[in-house]
Amino acid sequence: LNGNSLDEVLKKEALSDEDIVFLLGLTEPEDCKKLQEAAYKKTTELMGNKVYYRGLIEVSNVCTVDCRYCGIRKDNHGVHRYTLSKEEILEAAMFAAENGYGSICLQAGERNDPKFVSFISDCLREIHRKTVSESLPNSLGITLSLGDQTKEVYEEWAEASGNRQNLRYLARFESSNQELFDFLHNVLHKKSKQLEHRLQCLQWLKECGYQVGTGVMIGIPGQKLEDLCSDIRLYQKLEADMIGMGPYLMSEGGDLKSLGQTENKKLFQLSLNMIAVTRLVMGNINIAAATAMQVLDPQGRETAISYGANVVMPNLTPLQYREGYQLYDKKPGLKDDPETFGLKLEERIQSKGREVGWNLSGSSRKWLNR
Ligand code: SAM
Repeated sequence: LNGNSLDEVLKKEALSDEDIVFLLGLTEPEDCKKLQEAAYKKTTELMGNKVYYRGLIEVSNVCTVDCRYCGIRKDNHGVHRYTLSKEEILEAAMFAAENGYGSICLQAGERNDPKFVSFISDCLREIHRKTVSESLPNSLGITLSLGDQTKEVYEEWAEASGNRQNLRYLARFESSNQELFDFLHNVLHKKSKQLEHRLQCLQWLKECGYQVGTGVMIGIPGQKLEDLCSDIRLYQKLEADMIGMGPYLMSEGGDLKSLGQTENKKLFQLSLNMIAVTRLVMGNINIAAATAMQVLDPQGRETAISYGANVVMPNLTPLQYREGYQLYDKKPGLKDDPETFGLKLEERIQSKGREVGWNLSGSSRKWLNR
């Protein structure tokens, strides 16, 4: 590292690719602690002490694409498919609004049919109408995570939300390494996600005024530290407002089982390092502590917060549907009751010296400063 020590690297204003790879590869507990402290300090300095809740509503597990890593991919016929009703979505959204969550995230498998598109528009209009008519405090932030769509669809949903000031979209590009991306998505094989198209979608979302979130999976078989460094460089290039990333975890219903999965402890530390380095490089953006972190360590989400995350996504999907939305094996929270979970999580967040941003939609500061 050109003779620079860890302390010197952590003091730098701008990290080189070499620095990033070095930081991502840290494994000694003392070194990791230094990285953690630097990222935590930067987070609280730039973003304040609050951690924001996004109530996650898993709208549907019906999917028309076949991402090889994913438990709800189209060709996994072992999954019972569901779509929540408009009433169920509204009830979950209103629970979030009334309980001070400040924002929600509607996520689903990928579908482009006009019926689904107008169903989402209807839900968005209704959520807006209800939050306004019930004069709920502050406007509810809405994140959509519904995959690749046309620019017209993104525009339709933005219009239907009635609230472009608090509108976000999350679409991970999964990996910036073209070969790895193609391998993960069976690109030559079937209808599948294309990296170039996903990046085009992120651009359209920006043009439609969304706060744009993206991210990758960490520890994909065959992925190198240099690939993760390129992922961070792509976050910069895209000027992302939010990053939601987490470890790649094996899925019984996926198509990559034979490749195995990185050992838990190693994968956990790598994921934490990735969060910390993303914070150091990207500055005042929102970074989510992924639910998947909790699979690797019982304190996964809180630890991610201590490494630079400032958003968590408590699950508000009605309990009877959760079994059907298992993107990876051993997904936690299948029985977490929304009635009590938000408060329990608050205690865990406080244990890391942070507080919950109750009733705040928690917009990306990078976006607000534009
Ligand atoms: N269909 C939308 C999309 O593709 O963006 C949103 C839903 S998709 C299921 C949400 C995210 O789940 C993906 O971006 C992917 O990174 C993550 N995911 C799927 N399978 C996973 C696995 N086995 N391990 C970790 N994350 C996984």
